[in-house]
Amino acid sequence: MLVVNGVTKKYGKFVANDNLSFTVGDGEIAILLGPNGAGKSTIIKSIAGLLKYSGDIEINGLMNKTVEAKKLLGFVPEIPALYDALTVEEHFEFIRRAYKCENYDNIKPLLERFELTDKLQKLGKELSKGMQQKVSICCALIHDPNVIIFDEPMVGLDPHAIKELKLLFGELKRAGKTVIISTHMIDTVEDYWDVANIMVKGKIVATKRNNTNNPDEKSLQDLFFEITETPRENA
Ligand code: ADP
Repeated sequence: MLVVNGVTKKYGKFVANDNLSFTVGDGEIAILLGPNGAGKSTIIKSIAGLLKYSGDIEINGLMNKTVEAKKLLGFVPEIPALYDALTVEEHFEFIRRAYKCENYDNIKPLLERFELTDKLQKLGKELSKGMQQKVSICCALIHDPNVIIFDEPMVGLDPHAIKELKLLFGELKRAGKTVIISTHMIDTVEDYWDVANIMVKGKIVATKRNNTNNPDEKSLQDLFFEITETPRENA
């Protein structure tokens, strides 16, 4: 479970996240939607413990910057950060040792689904952006985290990997994990989410749950465009 409570992040005087609060439960998929610059990556990096901010962020009841909380967190950054001189296999070994995982049998099916089995001996610098992204996704899941955050995960992936990633979201949900996905690409967002938070200029301006059967309720796309598109005068 993830709890974000009153988080404000400023870069100098610029407020990138303005008093954000939201909760994502176990077995729930939350998406953070918003145009470029809305502040999605900033809150994601704050959850990952990479930024200083005011407010509180808890992972399964633990403050996010504690080692115990970090063990429960998986993070797929917007831009994969692989080591140039480590092979794909060495990246997995590095994570396995860092998290002291005795058992990491989950890596084999991940390698197969993301078509990385024959890339194990390639160096980080030899991989395409999409392959790096797939390795980054695998690295985030090796230690079987309870809360997984994905920052713009579809960018750079081929259609097969996008299909597999969407299936993976569903599997993580069914396994009771807490999943947070940030994206600016409304087209890639299908029905796999439970709650959508729409961000504009550092604030959450709308929250929509995906469990209503009300035919009169606006679709996520309609709500998103209504909020984010400025009406053109005399159009
Ligand atoms: P998003 O992920 O929604 O595209 P970001 O969280 O990356 O948005 O950025 C939110 C705002 O904060 C943007 O206006 C961006 O220019 C600004 N910003 C992001 N990182 C920095 C930084 N390191 N220094 C100054 N401003 C930043």
